[in-house]
Amino acid sequence: MPNLIRLDRLLANLGYASRSEAISIIRSGRVSHDHRVVRDPSERVSPAAVLLDDEALDHPLGVFVAVHKPAGYVCSHDDRDGQTVFSLLPRQWLDRTPRPEAVGRLDKDATGLLLVTDDHVLIHRLTSPKQHVDKTYLVTLDRPLDPALVDVFAAGDLLLRGDTAPCLPASLVVVADNQAELTITEGRYHQVKRMFAACGYHVEALHRLRVGAWKLEDLPAGLWRDAPKD
Ligand code: URA
Repeated sequence: MPNLIRLDRLLANLGYASRSEAISIIRSGRVSHDHRVVRDPSERVSPAAVLLDDEALDHPLGVFVAVHKPAGYVCSHDDRDGQTVFSLLPRQWLDRTPRPEAVGRLDKDATGLLLVTDDHVLIHRLTSPKQHVDKTYLVTLDRPLDPALVDVFAAGDLLLRGDTAPCLPASLVVVADNQAELTITEGRYHQVKRMFAACGYHVEALHRLRVGAWKLEDLPAGLWRDAPKD
């Protein structure tokens, strides 16, 4: 978002009102900027210095949050396949422009860290295959892990069904008989499940712990918190 923006556009972009409703709100004297009531909708303002009904605006400089996705939620805005993760976030965010989107996706049955932001340049940077942002998953399998899998995944020559290039080297740390932490630097379709399937395992549960520098930590399932961008 630019540093200075027309006040009516700001309120509309942050999902408070349509542009014409925003003009009425501003003309009625409910909005101040730098402690001064502004009645001119075209006045250019600094978003963080605006109050509506004496309250600061919601995330005036943009949204970047960590969500703990529970199982059964989909990572799209389309609710035909189930409840969407966006239903866990403030309703008004759906009316923001740009609209917040998920940074990559987790399968419906997967849980854990999902980043959501309206910074589409950042989404591109974090999901671009060229950037190799690493992601760590706690994976629960249908049977005890053969320790030899550590070397199989590290070798960088595992070919997934239907793919032409092998997976890049991935780091596997066995944490229990049936559980391991897997760190990958790509984001292929169903990659973790397909990597284990290629070795004869079925993934029973998939939980993302980390994306790049962002960790899930103790965020409870279904909740979100602001995440520092850097
Ligand atoms: N790999 C998968 O198989 N599923 C996910 O949701 C994420 C990575």
